[in-house]
Parts: sequence; structure tokens; C-alpha cells
Amino acid sequence: MKDTSPPCALNDDLQRAPWPSIVIPFYNEEENVRPLHDQIVSALSGLTRSYEVIAVDDGSTDRTLAILEAIVKEDPRWRVVVLRRNFGQTAALSAGFDHATGDVIVTLDGDLQNDPADIPRLLELIQDYDVVSGWRADRKDPFLSRRLPSMLANRLISATTGVRLHDYGCTLKAYRRVVVENLRLYGELHRFIPAIASWMGIAIAEVKTNHRPRQFGHSKYSIARTVRVLLDLIAVKFLLRFSTSPIQIFGGLGLTVGVAGGGLLLYLAGLKLLMGQQIGGRPLLLLAILLLILGVQLVGMGLLGEMVARVYHETQRKPIYMVQRTIHGGQGRRDGC
Ligand code: UDP
Ligand code: MG
Repeated sequence: MKDTSPPCALNDDLQRAPWPSIVIPFYNEEENVRPLHDQIVSALSGLTRSYEVIAVDDGSTDRTLAILEAIVKEDPRWRVVVLRRNFGQTAALSAGFDHATGDVIVTLDGDLQNDPADIPRLLELIQDYDVVSGWRADRKDPFLSRRLPSMLANRLISATTGVRLHDYGCTLKAYRRVVVENLRLYGELHRFIPAIASWMGIAIAEVKTNHRPRQFGHSKYSIARTVRVLLDLIAVKFLLRFSTSPIQIFGGLGLTVGVAGGGLLLYLAGLKLLMGQQIGGRPLLLLAILLLILGVQLVGMGLLGEMVARVYHETQRKPIYMVQRTIHGGQGRRDGC
């Protein structure tokens, strides 16, 4: 277990046992739904509070939805959110977050690879942390096509975002409500939630969890995902670092190349005017002009970015900060947000 953030969790309203929502995305998992239901029932039978399960059917074309409907009739703790088509795992999780009412949200895969028996441990730890992330230390997936790329991706994501986790890709995670409430997920960003949410100043714990080979159905992803993860990483890094001040990155680059281009032009002008040399055919002239134009373009992009950032934050009323607590006359009150 590892703590990468401030020791203090966002709010302390979980001193009592948390009310958990379990969010599970299902896309063509017909053989897995029923056993997963049964495993959750037995894994959570010892909880002192009840729980709810938000099963998201992500446009399944097999019997997944029919089985989920049958389960809902038997078990009132289960609810199904049926998406109109297959939107992808991130969208399915996002739909689950939007429908969850718990003060803790636990996510897990619907393919039986995550073990529901780990959930009670996550619920225990979430009382002291904002995010508890599963770590499939003994992962049961093929080495070359899955574990190796994932290992490299985890190192890269950890180094780039500064949020060091062994296993970003493990869906089994627990979040305090305040964390997912303030997230907007796009593309395939669900694996980056701990990094994206780190801007709030969250306390993260990582805990080893069980992982099982896929018995039924098949994985919905191939090695092609690695490239998408890399592209997403660039976007996440940019948003984390510069979303409130894009002029800093584009303007900085623009000034650098623009000044270099301007300097070269001055040099060439000196050669022509003072020394009477011909500069029309010199490649350096082309380079100088190119750099100058690039510089102007980059500064322009930075300014446009500034406008986009303002629209983004103001139209969505997205705060650029999160308050942990305010202090009045010696009394501390934690706001969470
Ligand atoms: N999933 C989903 N929509 C998709 C792809 C996957 O809801 O478009 C679900 C899938 O049913 C499973 C979970 O996301 O419950 C993880 O998918 P998978 O097992 O294929 O991923 P892997 O474990 O191979 O990374
Ligand atoms: Mg799986």
C-alpha cells in the first residue's frame, strides 16, 4: 500500500461505515453476469450497511441484458442502466457514476477477472483515503500482449503524471463520491482517473487484489489500445499541467522559436546591409522566416487556448480549486468541495 498524496482525505464524513455503490460495466458478458452476482452477494454479506449495484449494459448483443433484467427482479439492490449502443467502457463507467447514489463508489469489471472478495478491504481503506486502487500484482493475462505493455504504460503514466501507481488499468477501485462527482470522462480516460483527480489534492492508497483469468467470453481490447493510451496520456498531462494556462506552454514555445527566427533575420539583414552580401538564396533565410511564422502561430494558439480554457471552466462552472475545509472561529468544517 502506498500513499502518494497529502495524508488528509478530502472530507471526513466516512467515519461511519460507508454506503457503497458498486458500478459494473457489461458488454457481452452473458456467462459472467450470474456468477458475478452470486459472488458479490457472498462477498458483501458481512457488511454492516447495505449496498447497491449499478450494472451498466453497454449495448450488449448477447443475453447479458436479459440476465441482468432477471437479476433485478430477484435482487432489489441491483439496478441496470441500459445504454442505447456500445459506447465503450469509459462511457459505461461514467453512466454508472451518474446513477450511483452511494457515498463510496466501487468499480469492477463484469468479466469475473476482479474478485468481489476484495471489495470489503477497499471499503475499509476508503475511510482514510479518497481513492483506493486495486493492484493486480499476480495478473492472469497473457504476458506479451497484455502484461508487458501495461507494465510499461504504468511506469510511463506514473512518471508523466507524478501519481505513482503500479496498476492504472485495474478497474477494481474505490472512490469517495466527491472524487467522481467532479470528473468528466471522455474517450478512454477511465484508467487515468487517479491522475486526473490528483488536481483536487487527493489521498490515494494502492492495495494488492486478486486477479483471475478470463473464463468466459473474450477481452474487448487488443494491443492497439497501447497507442490510444499513449495519446490519452499526452492529453491528460496537458490538461493537468496547462489547462488553466495554455499560453504558458504555447506562448513559451512560440516566444522561443520566434525570437530565434527574429535573431536570424537580424543577422542576415546585417550581412546584407553592412557587408553587402547576397542573402536571397540562403537556406538560413527560409529557416528564419519559418521560425518567425511558427512563433507567431504558437503564441496565437496559446491565446486561443486561453479563450477555450475560459469557456471550458465558465460554461461548466468548473472550479479551478477544491476547498478541503474552511475555518471559522476556531472550528474546522470540512467541505469536501
Ligand atoms: N466493457 C464495456 N464496454 C466495452 C468494452 C468493455 O462495458 O466497450 C466492459 C467489459 O464487459 C468488462 C470490462 O469492461 O466488464 C473490461 O473489459 P475487458 O475484460 O474486455 O478488458 P480487459 O480485462 O481485457 O482489459
Ligand atoms: Mg477483463
